Amino acid sequence: MNVNALSIDLEFWWCNEFLTDYLPRDREDGFRDSLRPIFAVLDAFDVKATFFVLGSVAETYPEVVSEIHRGGHEIACHAYSHKPLYAMSRSEFEGELKKSLELLADYNPVGFRAPSFSLNNETKWALEVLEKYGFQYDSSIFPVRTQIYGVPDAPVGIYRPSRDDITVHDPDGPIVEFPLSVLRLGTNIPVSGGFYLRVLPKRFLSWGVGRVATRRPANIYVHPHDIYPGPPLLKVPFISRLVTYHGVRTSLEKLIMLMARFSFMPMGALLDGMALLPPDAPVPIAPAAPLRPVGRDDPAIPSLPVPGLRRHPLDTVAHRYTGRTRKQVCETGDSDEVW
Ligand SMILES: [Zn+2]
Repeated sequence: MNVNALSIDLEFWWCNEFLTDYLPRDREDGFRDSLRPIFAVLDAFDVKATFFVLGSVAETYPEVVSEIHRGGHEIACHAYSHKPLYAMSRSEFEGELKKSLELLADYNPVGFRAPSFSLNNETKWALEVLEKYGFQYDSSIFPVRTQIYGVPDAPVGIYRPSRDDITVHDPDGPIVEFPLSVLRLGTNIPVSGGFYLRVLPKRFLSWGVGRVATRRPANIYVHPHDIYPGPPLLKVPFISRLVTYHGVRTSLEKLIMLMARFSFMPMGALLDGMALLPPDAPVPIAPAAPLRPVGRDDPAIPSLPVPGLRRHPLDTVAHRYTGRTRKQVCETGDSDEVW
């Protein structure tokens, strides 16, 4: 079974398009508290992850980003304001990216995730902008159809999107895409964390992630507020309530189950281990595979409060990588999947 990628979208609880029209003017971000459950799990299982950091978070809480980095996690980019790509012009996106890269300059991010998984064929121009700013990989494509995002025809495995059509693999494509994980059961069913972590039954989730992980590395994401029930319950329409709050109180247990049954590592290190990133790209140090027992069944939820973020020295790359060596994605795996 493959080692999988775990990522955390590091953002405020209100970065949610289903809440945008209902947000109170005065609101507490509760940001540090919102991180306690996720670090309880990461520390308990000694798992390193990729943090897609929102620029405005890095601006408000630079010390938190620094602590996360010193803890051995990968810092990647989630744009600045959390506006979806389809709500921005190309130049506006470029401005956001520049601002975010300045805020994250100490970490040399090579990975990107678009807010609300908003990369599709309408917003494919974003890939050229990512290339221009030296990004090596993207994890924004969700091969599923939903109300606000999704590219149902996209490959489900790691591939290089063509500049002309992001559903097509181009061996010369400049950016490696690591799509969010879906099961192919007639239709694509997301088993990739976030809302789906909250809403899917634990057994199905475990079976689904296992099925993906036997074929290719699974790509699982979590928002801090997916497992932290601290944000205020706003009066919102039924669908917004369902998408935002459903399962928040049971999701921590499911995440612990995933950490116990499967192996995870940061996305950049995983892609680097597959020789998909240039040899001299600044990929954060991470163990080749987690050194911990796996297969434990439903361990106890780690007791809270959480230990502080650990501090370990981590070599950093002094300058941003600008060169590029293209590597082929190995075309193996399921016959209908690139990887
Ligand atoms: Zn986000």
